[in-house]
Amino acid sequence: MEFDTVIHGGTIVTPTESWQGDLGLVGGRIAGLAERLPGGARRIDATGRLVLPGGIEAHAHIAQESSSGLMSADDYYTGSVSAAFGGNSSFIPFAAQHRGQSVDAVIETYDSRAAPNSVLDYSYHLIISDPTETVLTEELPRAFARGITSFKVFMTYDLMNLGDRGMLDILTVARRHGALTMVHAENNDMVKWMNARLAAAGLTAPKYHAISRPALAEAEAINRAISLARLVGAGLFIVHVSTPEGADLVARAQASGLPIHAETCPQYLAFTRDDLDRPGMEGAKYICSPPLRDAATQAALWNHARRGTFESVSSDHAPYRFDASGKFANGAEPAYPAIANGLPGIAMRLPYLFSEGVAAGRISLQQFAALSSSNAARLFGMERKGALLPGYDADIAIWNPEETREVSLADQHDAMDYTPFEGMRLTGWPEHVLSRGETVVEAGELKAARGRGRFVARAPYRPDPNAPVEPELTPALNFGAEIRP
Ligand SMILES: [Zn+2]
Repeated sequence: MEFDTVIHGGTIVTPTESWQGDLGLVGGRIAGLAERLPGGARRIDATGRLVLPGGIEAHAHIAQESSSGLMSADDYYTGSVSAAFGGNSSFIPFAAQHRGQSVDAVIETYDSRAAPNSVLDYSYHLIISDPTETVLTEELPRAFARGITSFKVFMTYDLMNLGDRGMLDILTVARRHGALTMVHAENNDMVKWMNARLAAAGLTAPKYHAISRPALAEAEAINRAISLARLVGAGLFIVHVSTPEGADLVARAQASGLPIHAETCPQYLAFTRDDLDRPGMEGAKYICSPPLRDAATQAALWNHARRGTFESVSSDHAPYRFDASGKFANGAEPAYPAIANGLPGIAMRLPYLFSEGVAAGRISLQQFAALSSSNAARLFGMERKGALLPGYDADIAIWNPEETREVSLADQHDAMDYTPFEGMRLTGWPEHVLSRGETVVEAGELKAARGRGRFVARAPYRPDPNAPVEPELTPALNFGAEIRP
């Protein structure tokens, strides 16, 4: 076979093993793997390097308005460029429906934001905040049919929260059409009650954000979300799990064979609520929801990442600058509930996970590939991405596992004016990122043209066909089918 590109001499990481050899590409796809491949119009020397599946960032907020109308700092150009410098070959940001909006119009809007700008292949998860009858019966099925086969819903925030009944309706639609429901699980009333108590006591500094959203609010909502999904026999993906209590509930559901999936994010592994108590308003840089926790939580979350409770580690990149366009859109020293929620980290997700996971000996290379790429491909239906196997897209990240570098804002390439990871020393960095065989980033330089990324139509969600089914799930499935034919 005549290869257009051969990546030679690297340690190739496949889903089952790592071995030293060559990878041959033809027409943007992986065409051959062998100890030694001759030829190749272009040969990339990967001696001493790791050859990994390009990352798939499955949780990012790009060119997205919040429910209060605040625009994220990154558009599809800066967002995708930053993702590429961080070792990603594709990403799945959100396309958010706010109340009163049609889903068809939302998708059209995001197409116009992404297509001309993205340097990486992309898809969207919808965010649904207004599940009207038209949305449930016409617009969502239409979105699924065009390959947008996942969406996120919220159990918190007054302008987003669907309520249990709304959750049941939409989970049923997802199950019927083979879509995956993602959920932000925090008990809305617990948080609002805490906010009111703290406000009454005049406790409004950033550090009170952590207290206002207790671990129990997450655990309660995760337990309820799993129960709602079980009633209708639907799969569920719980985003940004931040507590051991929540992760334990997910692990227990998985052990009983339920199609419950979850992710955590680097910020819950890297930072604690002490970061919210930095001098002045610095703590605002660390406000995200669910909030940062403590050191014991970090250890427990790492354990769940290693055990496979978390199938993905995602950035939840939600870029709001440290100025009036972002964090301080509501004034220079607002009370914590008025500070924009979210941390930037799309370029740091993989270097952090590699350094603190692989280099620190917490996870294997196979686990890194699974958490950074392969599992997201499988769960979210990117059928030709996420593994270095013949026939797959040549989405590849070549890493130098030895390089140690100090994190700085200049390395982020996003539109932000800070990175919470500033000054951290990390070992293992991506050097060369390819997407469908084309170099996107090489030796610290962007090589890709704006708009080269393509929309990826994703396959329907199928629960793991090998997972044992909990006996009591079957009646629930039938029950759901009976009352909702
Ligand atoms: Zn998010």
